[in-house]
Amino acid sequence: MRVVVLFGLLLIAAIGMAVEELKTEEGGRWWYAPSRKAPLYEHKYQGIRNQLVRAAARQGEDMRLPTDVLPTSYTIRLLPFIEVGNFTTDGYIEILVECKKATSSISMNAAALTIDTESITVVDNENNTPFEVVSLIDQQTEREIITINLKTSLVDGKTYKISMKFVSILNDELRGFYRSTYEENGVTKYLAISQMEAPDARRAFPCFDEPNMKAVFTIIVGYKNDTMSAISNMPVNKTEPIENMPGYMWNHFDPSVKMSSYLVAMMVSEFVSETSNSSFSPGIVYKIWARPSFRNQTAYSADIGPKILTDYAKNYFLIDFPLPKMDMAAIPDFAAGAMENWGLVTYREADLLYDPKRSSASAKQRVAAIIAHELAHQWFGDYVTMDWWNVLWLNEGFASYMEYPGTEYVEPGFEMNEQFTVTDLHYVFGIDALESSRPIDFQVNTPDEINQMFDAISYEKGSCIIRMCANFLGEPVFRRGVTRYLNAHAYGNTVQQDLWKALQEQAGIDKIVLPDTVEKIMETWTRQMGFPVINVTRSYNANNGATASQQRFLLRKNPNSTDTNVYKWWVPLTYTNNFSAPAESSWLPGSAESIQISRLPGSSSDWIIFNVGQEGYYRVIYDERNLNMIREQLMKSHTVISKKNRAQILDDYLNMARANLTSYVSAMELTRYLTNEHDYAPWTAASVALDYIDVMFYGLLDEKDWKDYMTGLVIPLYNHVKYTESASDVHLTVFTRSQAVYWACGKLNISDCVQNADRDYHAWMANDANELSPNLRRLISCTAIADGSRPEWKFGFDKYVNSTLPNEKTELLRAITCTVNVTILNEMLVMMITNNSDIRLQDASTLFSNIAANPVGHQVAMDFLTNRWNETSAYFGGFQGFGGGTMARLFRSLCNRVNTQAKLNQLKKLRSDHPAELGSSKSVSQGMEVAEANVLWVQQHYDTIVNWLKSQQSAATTQPTVATTPSTVATTPSTASSVYLDNFSTLIMVVLAGFWSLTRFCSFP
Ligand SMILES: [Zn+2]
Repeated sequence: MRVVVLFGLLLIAAIGMAVEELKTEEGGRWWYAPSRKAPLYEHKYQGIRNQLVRAAARQGEDMRLPTDVLPTSYTIRLLPFIEVGNFTTDGYIEILVECKKATSSISMNAAALTIDTESITVVDNENNTPFEVVSLIDQQTEREIITINLKTSLVDGKTYKISMKFVSILNDELRGFYRSTYEENGVTKYLAISQMEAPDARRAFPCFDEPNMKAVFTIIVGYKNDTMSAISNMPVNKTEPIENMPGYMWNHFDPSVKMSSYLVAMMVSEFVSETSNSSFSPGIVYKIWARPSFRNQTAYSADIGPKILTDYAKNYFLIDFPLPKMDMAAIPDFAAGAMENWGLVTYREADLLYDPKRSSASAKQRVAAIIAHELAHQWFGDYVTMDWWNVLWLNEGFASYMEYPGTEYVEPGFEMNEQFTVTDLHYVFGIDALESSRPIDFQVNTPDEINQMFDAISYEKGSCIIRMCANFLGEPVFRRGVTRYLNAHAYGNTVQQDLWKALQEQAGIDKIVLPDTVEKIMETWTRQMGFPVINVTRSYNANNGATASQQRFLLRKNPNSTDTNVYKWWVPLTYTNNFSAPAESSWLPGSAESIQISRLPGSSSDWIIFNVGQEGYYRVIYDERNLNMIREQLMKSHTVISKKNRAQILDDYLNMARANLTSYVSAMELTRYLTNEHDYAPWTAASVALDYIDVMFYGLLDEKDWKDYMTGLVIPLYNHVKYTESASDVHLTVFTRSQAVYWACGKLNISDCVQNADRDYHAWMANDANELSPNLRRLISCTAIADGSRPEWKFGFDKYVNSTLPNEKTELLRAITCTVNVTILNEMLVMMITNNSDIRLQDASTLFSNIAANPVGHQVAMDFLTNRWNETSAYFGGFQGFGGGTMARLFRSLCNRVNTQAKLNQLKKLRSDHPAELGSSKSVSQGMEVAEANVLWVQQHYDTIVNWLKSQQSAATTQPTVATTPSTVATTPSTASSVYLDNFSTLIMVVLAGFWSLTRFCSFP
C-alpha cells in the first residue's frame, strides 16, 4: 500500500519537476519522457490505470505466482480475426511444466481472456496419463491469475503438459495482442501486433508471465494469405493451409531460444519489407517492415540497424547475436517508442522511419539512438534478464547508456558524447532533486507498480550511474566486466549483485585499485534516492589543499519532512586545473561527510574544477575565491575549460541558486561569458535554466531589462551560427542554430530572425515547393504564425491536418498554437471538444497544454476551462481511456506559467469549484505546489535579479548588433510578439535534448 502511494507521488513529481524546470507539461518535456511512456500511457489508459491502482491496493504481493510449477516450453497457436465486427483471436496453448514442489494446483497469469474450461487438460508428459481437473479458479479480474485445481497431486521433479483453448480480444489498448490501423489510398487498414512488456503477455495467452520464468516458445500464427503475412521472433519453418478455412494459412515458426514471456512478439499485416544488404550482417537476415506507402523511408534503418547489431554491439559484448534473423517493424499505433522483442523489434513509425528530404537532423539522431538502445537490449535484457522488475534499471539504464556509443559508432559526426550530460544527466537531476524521488532499486509487485518503473530513474539515472562506474573502472575494464557478466548468466536472470560481482572480478584481473568493493560503492547509488552536492573549500596555502564535503541536493527542503535517513554516497571525485592533462582523483567515502585533499594540482592562484567531464552523478559548489577564478577564466578564454564542464558549471550554479545554496548574483555572473559561447552543450545547459527565469519574468515590471540582457547574450550566438543553414554545418551546429533561433525569433523578437522566418513561411504559403528546412520547420512556422494573422495560421493548420509525415504533424500541432490571436486560440479550444473536428481526440490534450504554454494562450486556456468546464469534462469523459484523469491533466498544464498571486488565486478557485474531479488528484496538488513555488520564487529572487540586471546595464558599453541575414535589421527586443515564444518552449527540447522530439522509447507505454 505504501508502495503504491509513493509511486503515485513519484510519477507526478517526475512530470511535475520536468515541467517546473522547463515550464510546459505536454508542450514541454513530457514527450521526452521520464517515462518516455508514462504520459502516453496515462493519457490513453487513465481509466484502466485507476482500476489497477485500486486492485493493487488490495492485492500487493498476492499478484505474484507461486514457484512450485515452472514452464520449460510453450507451443502457442493464435489465429487473429482482423475484421471489423470480429476483432478476436482464437488461441490454443500447450505448456510443458516442471513440478518443483508437489502440488495439486497450477497457477498462471491470464487477463481479459475467455478460457474454454472444458478444454483444459493436464497430462503426465512421460506417459500421457491425464489428471482429473477439479476446477478452474478464474481470478483474472482481481489478480490476473487463473488456477487449475487437480484431483491428485503432481510429483516433484516430473514434467507435465497443460493445454487449453481460449479467445482473446484483439483490443485497441496497445497492449497484449492488439490491433492498429492506418489509411492507405483512402482505405482503413488493420494489423495485429503484440506488446507484451511489462506484464501483458497474459493478455495474449495464459502464461507464467514473470521475467525469471523463462522458457522456449514455439509460435504458430494464422493469417489470410492473399493479402497478409505473419512474422514472429523466429524464422518461419513451415507454412500450411488452415483446415476448413479457405484462404487462411498457418506459419509455424522455429522454437525460440530460452527467453522471458515479455519478449514474445508476432505481427500479422499487409506490411512490406526491405532487406538489408547481407554484407552488413553476415549470417543474419535483416529486414525493415512498414506500411507500403512508407517503404521509401526504411533505407536509413536498413543501413544502420545491421551495422549496430553485428559490427558494434557484437564487438562490444564479444558475444554473437544468437538468432538467425532480425526484423524491425514500424507500427502506426504504439504506446512506447520501441520494444526490444528478441528478433522482432517494434517501433512507433517516427522512431524507425526517416525521410532524407523531409526529416530533421534531430529526427535522424533519434532513429539512430533508439535503434542503438533496442539492439543493446538484445544482449542486455533479452540474453540476460533482470530477475524481477525492481531492477528494471539493469535493462533500461544499460540500454540508455548504449544509445550514445552505439549511435556514435554509425554516426561519428553526431558527437553523442558531447550530448550525454545535457540530455540525460541534467534532466534526471531535476527529478532526483525532489524529496519524492525514489531509489533505482525499488520493490514492486503489481502491474501498476511495475509500469511505473519505466521512468527517468530507471532510464536516465540508470545510464548516469553506469557511465560513472565505467569511468572509475576504466571503459575497457568495464566492458570486459560486462562480457563476463553476460557469459556467466546467458539465457538466465540476474539481480544487481551479479553485475557488481562480475565487475569486481574483472577489476581484480585488471588490477584496478578501488577503496571498497564495486558492490559497496555502487549500492550507495542504487539503494538510496537522490544525489550529493560536493562542497569544495580550498585552503589557499602552500599545500594548496581542499576540503570536500557531501550533502544531499534538494531543490526544496520540506520543513515537515519525516525522512530520517542520513544520505551519504561513495563519490568518485575527479579534479583538474588543466583540461589537456589527465584529471586527478580521490574518493569521498560513503561513511564520511568530508575528506581532506592534501594537494590539488597547480597552485593556489589557479582555479580548480571538480567532476571532470561531469562523469560523476553529483553537483559541485566552490568557495567564492575559486568561483571567481573560474568566472575570470570563462570571461577571458572559456575554451580552456571543456565544453562539458562549462555546461556543468552553468547547470550546477543556476540550479543551486534555485535551491538557495548560492545567490542568483553568483549564478548570473557566470552567464555573462555566454556572449562568447558558441557550443551546443553549454548553451543547452544555460538555455534550460534561463528559460525558467524568462517564464517567471513574463508580464512583470522589469521584464524588458531581462529581455535586454538575454538579447545581449543571444545576438552573438545568432550571428555566429546564422539563420541560414549551410551545407558545411556539422550536426551540433544544426542543433545550436535551433537554440539561437528559439531565443532570437521565439523569445526575444530579434527582427532579423523574425523577418527571415516570415519570408520563408510566406514563400512556402505561395508555393508548396518552397518547403521549410526540416530543422527549422517548427520554429519558422511558430514565428510566422505568431507574427501573422489568420491566413498564416490557416495555412499551418491545413498543413497539420493533411500531413502524412509523423514528425511534421507533431511539429505543426505545436506551431499552430503559437498564434497570439485570442479569437483563433478560442476557436482551437472549441475544436478540441467538438466531435469530428480536425483536432483528433488523441491530440486534444496536447493542443490544450501547448496553448497553456503560450503566454497569451495561458489566460485564454485558463478562462476556457473555467467557463466551459462541464462541456469539456463531458467530451473527454465519454472517451474510453481518457477517463476522469483528463480534467486533472488539463488543469495541471495551467500551473507552470503561474507567476503572480492573481493567477494563483484564479487557479485555486478553479480547483475548489471542482472538488469531485480535482480535489483528490495528486497531479493537481503537485501542480498547485509548482504554481505556489513559482510565486514564492518571484518573491525571493525577482528583486535580486532585477538589481543585478540594472547593474549590468549601467556597466554595459553597447549592446551587440545583429549581423543581418540578407538585409538590414535592428535588434528590437520587445514584448509584443515574443509572446508566443514560450509556446515553443517545447523547442527548448531542441535545445535541451537535441533530438528527442517525441516520447522516447523502449518497452512500453
Ligand atoms: Zn529499453
